[in-house]
Amino acid sequence: MRFISKSIIIAFSFFALYACVNQNCDVKNTPKETTFNNDHLLMAVLYQQQAAECKALYYQAFNLAQLMLDKDLADKTQKGKRAVVVDIDETILDNSPFEAKMITKNAKYPEDWNVWTSMAKAKACSGAADFLNYAAGKGVEVFYITNRNEKEADATIKNLKEEHFPMVDTIHLLLKAKESSKEMRRLKIMKKYHIALLVGDNLTDFAADFDKTSSEVRDAKVTELRKEFGKRFIVLPNAMYGDWERAMYDAYKADTTKTKTAIRKMLLKDF
Ligand SMILES: [Mg+2]
Repeated sequence: MRFISKSIIIAFSFFALYACVNQNCDVKNTPKETTFNNDHLLMAVLYQQQAAECKALYYQAFNLAQLMLDKDLADKTQKGKRAVVVDIDETILDNSPFEAKMITKNAKYPEDWNVWTSMAKAKACSGAADFLNYAAGKGVEVFYITNRNEKEADATIKNLKEEHFPMVDTIHLLLKAKESSKEMRRLKIMKKYHIALLVGDNLTDFAADFDKTSSEVRDAKVTELRKEFGKRFIVLPNAMYGDWERAMYDAYKADTTKTKTAIRKMLLKDF
């Protein structure tokens, strides 16, 4: 009799588990995403890879950077040693093949990011190496401030060297340590150098004012600092990712494919 009761309990448990799985019941109450996709990235990646206009924007930015550096070099009132500070990803190295993989594999960042960076195969962005070699040739120190981490250091150095960037070593490569903000690293350079130019694809590459801020604050700060762009701040295009995207989702606490998709459509301004 006891054996029969035990069998009934076990059979009931299996039935309950089966029913739970079939109804997508999540024991931790955290619904798992089943609709994840990266289709929204498609045009942004194609723009980065296929649009000659994008290539032209990179050339335009680095041509302007050179003009502005020449202007700064001609300023004899500036006595200190000069430096140029550049971001790495989507500023001087093109990671669009990684973004493309995220679409074809339907994967979510940071999956495979370390696989990609360890390959050290990213190509230089158009005009970047020529500009930085020009700066180095003029006696200007070149610093790379990136939010890649210590584990990625060796491969990043290898990649930058193979793409013919100057001053690539552990002194000139300032990786992310504790915080993603680049302000402390900029201040460290400013103790010894006059920073003639900052070059980046994300507003946080230029000033702490943009760290972890909302879309509204970012927009207002850009207006406030408008005279710096094309002068001391040189911006590159990146429609694939960036703080601009994070800010949209943060405002609505969107953290699932469904809510992010809804936010993207909601924020469109049509007529
Ligand atoms: Mg970047």
